[in-house]
Amino acid sequence: MKVGILTIGNELTSGKTQDTNSSYIARELVQRGWQMAGTLSVGDDDEAIKDGLDYILSRADAVIVTGGLGPTVDDITTAAIARAYNRKLFTDEATLNHIKERFERAKLNWTNNNAKQAEFPEGAEVIPNPAGTAAGFALKVGDKLITVIPGVPMEARRMLTEGVIPVLIKAFPEEPHHLERRIIKTFGLAEAAVDQKVADIDLASLGVGIGFYPNFPEIQVVLTIRDADEAKAKKNLKQAEDQVVSRLKDHIFGYDQDTLEGVCAALLTEKKRTLAVAESLTGGFLTDRLTDIPGSSVYLERGVVTYSNASKTDLLGVPAEIINEFGAVSAETARLMAEGVRKLGKTDIGISTTGIAGPTGGTEKKPVGTVFIALADKDKTYCRQYGYRWDRRRIKMITTQALLLMLKRYLTGELTDE
Ligand code: ATP
Ligand code: MG
Repeated sequence: MKVGILTIGNELTSGKTQDTNSSYIARELVQRGWQMAGTLSVGDDDEAIKDGLDYILSRADAVIVTGGLGPTVDDITTAAIARAYNRKLFTDEATLNHIKERFERAKLNWTNNNAKQAEFPEGAEVIPNPAGTAAGFALKVGDKLITVIPGVPMEARRMLTEGVIPVLIKAFPEEPHHLERRIIKTFGLAEAAVDQKVADIDLASLGVGIGFYPNFPEIQVVLTIRDADEAKAKKNLKQAEDQVVSRLKDHIFGYDQDTLEGVCAALLTEKKRTLAVAESLTGGFLTDRLTDIPGSSVYLERGVVTYSNASKTDLLGVPAEIINEFGAVSAETARLMAEGVRKLGKTDIGISTTGIAGPTGGTEKKPVGTVFIALADKDKTYCRQYGYRWDRRRIKMITTQALLLMLKRYLTGELTDE
C-alpha cells in the first residue's frame, strides 16, 4: 500500500507555520513499513484541495489530510472534499453532542458555527477526536481512501495512531501487517558515512528496509520488516541487525527507546560509581541531561558551572598559572577541572567540558568549535579534543553527547588513552 500526505492551511503555504505534521506522519508510516507516495501542502482553497487530492491519489492508495477542520470560515476542508467527490454533508449527532458537552464543561458560549465541526461528507466514517473538538473522518472514494484529521499537531498525532492507522489497516487487509522494527542509535559518524558502512549489506533479500534519520546529534538507523509470518520477521530482522551492528559497532550507543544519558545512568547505578561534573562551555547542559533520568541522585553528586577563569581556580583548584600559560580552553585546564571536581565532590569520577562556542572568541590556533572534554578517576585522567563546525547551541549539545559517550565507554571498559 502506498500513502500520501496532504497538509492544508494558508499558514503553511505562507511559511508562517512549519509543516511538522507531514514529517511526523511520514516517519510513523515509513517506520511501519508503508511506502510513501509524497507530501503536498496547499492553502485553504477549494480548487487547490481538490487538485492536491487528485494528484496524490493518482499515485497512492490512500491519503492522510490534516488541517482546516475548525469552526471558522477559513476552515473549508470538509466542504471542499464533499464538493470534490459530489457528496452531500450530513450531521453526526454523536459528534455534535460531544462538541456541545465540551462547551458546557469549559463553560463556553455556544455559537452555531461550531455545529460545522459535526458535519461530514456522506458515506464518511467518523474518526473521534479524544483531545479536541474537531473530529476527523475516513471516506472511501472508489478503491481509494481519504482520511482527514485536524491540523493541531497534538491532536493530529494522537488521532493518527488511534484513528487513522487502524482504519488504513482495515481498508487494505491484504497487506501483511506483522511489523518488526529495530532502531540502532549512533553518534560520531555523519549520515553519509553511516550509509556507506552498511551500503553493501544485502538487506533486500531478507525483506528488511533501512532508513537513516538524523536526530541531532545522533544518526538513527531504523530497520523494518513487514511479514505475515511473525517468527520469520523476527528472525530476518535479527540477522539484518547483527550485520548492521557489526559495521557500526563503536558508534552505537543504544537501541530503540535508549538515550545516551539513560544508558550512562544505568551503568553508573549498576557499577555503583559516583560522578561530579564541572562545566564551562556547556553551561549546565550536561548536568541537565544527567538529571533528566529519574533516580539520578544515586550517582550524581554535583554539577558546577565554572564559567570564569576565577571560578575554575576558586572552586576546582585549577592553578591560575596553568590557565594563563595554556588557556582556559586547553587540555591542561580540562584535565585539572575533571580532577578538581572529583576531589571537590569526593566521587569516583569527575568529568569536565571547556571550549569555544562562538561565534566570537576563536583564534587561528583555537578556532570556534574547539572543545576539550576530560574524565578523571583516582588513577588516571582521559582527555579528548574536538573541532566542531556547528553553531553555538549545537556545539554545546554535541559536546554533552561526546562526553556522555566517553563516560559510557569508560564504564564499559572501552575507553582507551587516545
Ligand atoms: P481546529 O479545530 O483546532 O481549528 P483545524 O483542523 O482547523 O483544527 P487548523 O486551523 O488548520 O486546524 O490549525 C490549527 C493549528 O494547528 C494552527 O495553529 C496551525 O498553525 C497548526 N497547524 C495546522 N496544520 C499544521 C501542520 N501541518 N503542521 C504543524 N502545525 C499545523
Ligand atoms: Mg487552518
